[in-house]
Amino acid sequence: DKYVTENFITQIIDADLTSGKHTAVVTRFPPEPNGYLHIGHAKSICLNFGVAADYNGTCHLRFDDTNPEKESAEYAQSIKEDVRWLGFDWQTHEYNASDYFQQLYDFAIELINKGLAYVDDQSIEEIRENRGDFNTPGKNSPYRERSVEENLDLFKRMKAGEFDDGSKVLRAKIDMTSGNINMRDPVIYRIRRLHHIHTGDTWCIYPMYDFTHGISDAIEGITHSLCTLEFEDHRPLYDWYLDNISIPNHPQQIEFSRLNLSFTITSKRKLNQLVENNVVDGWDDPRMSTLSGMRRRGYPPAAIREFIKRVGVSKSESVISMTVLEDTLRSHLNKVAPRVMGVLRPLKVVIENYPEDKEEILTGANHPQDDSFGEHEIPFGREIYVEQSDYKENANRKFFRLTEGREVRLRHAYYITCQKAIKNEQGEVVELRCTYDPESRGGTADGRKVKGTIHWVSAKHAKNIEVRLYDRLFNHPKPASLDNFLDAINPDSLTILKDALVEPYLLEADQDVVYQFERNAYFKRDKTHETDQPVFNQVVTMRDSWAK
Ligand code: ATP
Ligand code: MG
Ligand code: MG
Repeated sequence: DKYVTENFITQIIDADLTSGKHTAVVTRFPPEPNGYLHIGHAKSICLNFGVAADYNGTCHLRFDDTNPEKESAEYAQSIKEDVRWLGFDWQTHEYNASDYFQQLYDFAIELINKGLAYVDDQSIEEIRENRGDFNTPGKNSPYRERSVEENLDLFKRMKAGEFDDGSKVLRAKIDMTSGNINMRDPVIYRIRRLHHIHTGDTWCIYPMYDFTHGISDAIEGITHSLCTLEFEDHRPLYDWYLDNISIPNHPQQIEFSRLNLSFTITSKRKLNQLVENNVVDGWDDPRMSTLSGMRRRGYPPAAIREFIKRVGVSKSESVISMTVLEDTLRSHLNKVAPRVMGVLRPLKVVIENYPEDKEEILTGANHPQDDSFGEHEIPFGREIYVEQSDYKENANRKFFRLTEGREVRLRHAYYITCQKAIKNEQGEVVELRCTYDPESRGGTADGRKVKGTIHWVSAKHAKNIEVRLYDRLFNHPKPASLDNFLDAINPDSLTILKDALVEPYLLEADQDVVYQFERNAYFKRDKTHETDQPVFNQVVTMRDSWAK
């Protein structure tokens, strides 16, 4: 089974292998370590690592660490954890763009020697001003015609730290009238006295992304450099750099459309704002679209890979509905999640004709469609809890659950009939008095048709857990399109239920898998194991409550 279904990129690769242009595929995933990875990155990861795996090739993990201001080792560490968690392995191929700082510098010298780069003393504002725009050609810098000797001298002195930050830059000498603004003498190096996570204070000049990226690809022998569409009009520059320096490889840059997901933010900068403003409980808050948030919430990595595969790879921009992700999760979890019974909002039931001192052990299948999951024991007794919503005072004939005089099946147990609801002084129902049919053990009895089956837990044996129910973090389908995406925060994105009760089996069983609380939702135990009361996160509901 392939990771990536056929698309325009795999067609290019097939052609390159057939023609003999390449004999092996080498790709790279190039994150900037300036935040945690999100669901958008999963597309790039699944594509780059997936294509490499499908073609028996190699995928490199390369940290694009050319902007020391926002980068940290913590972020780099989290990125590695997330890529591994998604199921991919870069083996020994972990690199940093900063590994190539010396080579990049030497290539810049080569460009100067060829008369293709010059030191510009204009300020950043002047450079921007003189670059022109779509309708206006740019103006040549007054420093554009400096001699090779002067440029070499000035660039070496930039590196040696003789000039102030921002006082000079190195620019490529291309064409200030180009219709592609990226080709109007782009900046190659700027002076910035910043401490770098890998190179420390060795450098006070740092190379720009476009210069660094293509050369890093070429140094590593990347064959196909897959990136998102916003780099399409940077491709001529990518190629110009590689055409004008002495390096044998010339990778092909191929652009594909970004993954945009409705009701979600896919920008590290904006996700960072959610963390900074304490809208969420950190980068791995289960409501975050980060991979660490999804991991904590209980999304299986295989379901994320399946989702990315469903979305496919193309060049057309679109917003994928959140429902597609949630449906992928549901159909995956339906196959892999063991079933248990958990009551989120308990209502006590006393079975009046069940002997006071009796208790018994029933069994329940761990998966109704798959015997290989086995079964587990479920204790039963005179007092049980059912879901509050499974009782209704004035129920019509279509309500197949509990109301006075109506019979229902307790899952894996007996038929019970509701005899009387007991109310407190406020008129709220606090307890149901029921009777059971001893002949209906296991959930069948001769002749009678009972339509409703409800879940329950034994009052004496149930374990108390805290349950966290999640809804979408945003109540607007395109939060990023708003002036302030923080205005679209859904105030009801988190509901905490502290009185939930589950059958004891749940806490004895594997805590690292997702369980279906039958008729409720899918849940996974939270990473916070230290509190007395176990916490379970709702992964996804059984049905799409947003579909109208
Ligand atoms: P952000 O705006 O969140 O910082 P980025 O593109 O700047 O995103 P990088 O760390 O540079 O983040 O991303 C690493 C790789 O992941 C890049 O090749 C980038 O194109 C890709 N990527 C980022 N976001 C998406 C997305 N939404 N869909 C597909 N690929 C993405
Ligand atoms: Mg980037
Ligand atoms: Mg970015």
